[in-house]
Amino acid sequence: MQDMLIKATAFNGMVRAYAANTTALVGEACERQDTWATSSAALGRTLTITGLIAAMHKGEDTVTVKIEGDGPMGAIIVDGHANGAVRGYTPHPHIDFPLNSAGKLDVKRAVGESGTLSVVKDLGLKDYFTGQVPLVSGEISEDFTYYFANSEQTPSAVAAGVIVDTDLSIKAAGGFIVQLMPGASEEVIDQLEEKINEFPSISSLIEAGNSPEDILALLFKDADLRVHEKAPVYFQCQCSREKMLTAIEGLGTEEIQSMIEEDHGAEATCHFCNETYQVTEEELKSLLF
Ligand code: ZN
Repeated sequence: MQDMLIKATAFNGMVRAYAANTTALVGEACERQDTWATSSAALGRTLTITGLIAAMHKGEDTVTVKIEGDGPMGAIIVDGHANGAVRGYTPHPHIDFPLNSAGKLDVKRAVGESGTLSVVKDLGLKDYFTGQVPLVSGEISEDFTYYFANSEQTPSAVAAGVIVDTDLSIKAAGGFIVQLMPGASEEVIDQLEEKINEFPSISSLIEAGNSPEDILALLFKDADLRVHEKAPVYFQCQCSREKMLTAIEGLGTEEIQSMIEEDHGAEATCHFCNETYQVTEEELKSLLF
């Protein structure tokens, strides 16, 4: 099934919801980052939620999420564009812990239980939004729930899950964000809480072949679900040869001079997609003038 993101409302517009299956997106990012099972789950959950947050925006808007915990992963950095392009990076991808007591990948142990979650939104025309909260669980979804409540004052339910196969490929990934609109009644809040508490794990629903629409239909049974938009969500890096050359130019004349004299060229690898760019001696010389 192709990755897809949907935007919907329920309870007569008092609730808005975003849901996506991200199996291919997470699969490609994890392959490029060479993540092992536990770090795949942590990175995959962050990629999924960042893609959902980016979908709340428009045009050229971008969202950058940084999770810095005291666990062995060190950091997870993901950026997402309103058009659906998402990429992610972790400095320590080789983490594979035994399953936790609930039989799930031990994301908390990889990420750490204390640290920060920060979100930077570039909304064009030099308009920036920055929010930061402490990590409250290290399991990612709960940390974003806390972020929405405290940094954006929007009561939300956030779920994201990843199933990693024995060969480390991604079997299923996806998630949803459900938010209460201002003025939602107590009755709606109670009903929603009940539905979410009883809801099965999103990754197993996706593994069983449910589309994002099926998942929201299950969640909002008899609650006036309306799907307003279907949008793509996919892995795409923003790097290019041009950007890489600009970065090398920024190192300064002395550094470039020594690359020419000692190495007769340069090699640069993008952290996000692992693409390697070979720069010739002639290209380096052209940067000096
Ligand atoms: Zn790249």
